[in-house]
Amino acid sequence: MIKLLEKYSWISWVFVIIIAIAIFYISSLIFESSVGGKFGWKTIAYHFLAFFSLAFFLLPALVQGNKKPFIFWGIVIAVLYGISDEIHQLFVPSRHFAISDIMVNSCGILFSSLIYTISLKLRGKANKSLFMDNCRFCQIAQKKVQDYVIWEDKNFIAFLDVNPVKSGHCMLIPKRHTDYFFDLDDELYLGLFKTAKKLSEPIRKVIGAKRIGITVVGFDVPHAHLHLIPLQGSNELFDPKKFRKAKPDELRYIQEKLKDVLDSV
Ligand SMILES: [Zn+2]
Repeated sequence: MIKLLEKYSWISWVFVIIIAIAIFYISSLIFESSVGGKFGWKTIAYHFLAFFSLAFFLLPALVQGNKKPFIFWGIVIAVLYGISDEIHQLFVPSRHFAISDIMVNSCGILFSSLIYTISLKLRGKANKSLFMDNCRFCQIAQKKVQDYVIWEDKNFIAFLDVNPVKSGHCMLIPKRHTDYFFDLDDELYLGLFKTAKKLSEPIRKVIGAKRIGITVVGFDVPHAHLHLIPLQGSNELFDPKKFRKAKPDELRYIQEKLKDVLDSV
């Protein structure tokens, strides 16, 4: 939820304004008897919850997950609003300025900022386990480096290879760091190929290729990736001149060895 409030910060600002206006309006109400203004548990609950809510929406709107110094300024703004709310009550008949209210307001604000700080810390930890330092593809997935991204969703991202074998050569990667392709969990593995199928036709049409070839190598960058390569003919990825005719004995020997192991799979 906090992430959504950061992403759509205008919603957070709308809530901040509504809560601020509500606080101002309630502080403008005149008590019918002097009992109403006493410092009871209802007053404590009201002040705590009102300023907790104000900070709950103000902090994501200001900080948006990455401008951490703004947490301090968010707290300052909320506390100042709490003080101005008490000053305002000096001018309302039957109300008065109360330091105790400011203390409770500040407790609500600090509790809200504590929750927000914990959420940022947990998110940081989750991201650390998803990504790896010094991995170029993790940096692309996190948008830490400029690259030629052509498509992305929650789990995968596709971008142009800066050293293309052919024009339009793309990379498709899972955002989560995994080095060896066959270490991907089944869900990501299948998702990667499904995504490759989805992207291949639009890429083929735009580049004007006959087919889209796929290869997996994985020694260049230690982050599982699929090459999507627009092809015009059959010899572009594999050079037939490099192929050699295998001897039947050699083929039979490897066949037996592999069959023995694969029988139990
Ligand atoms: Zn990585």
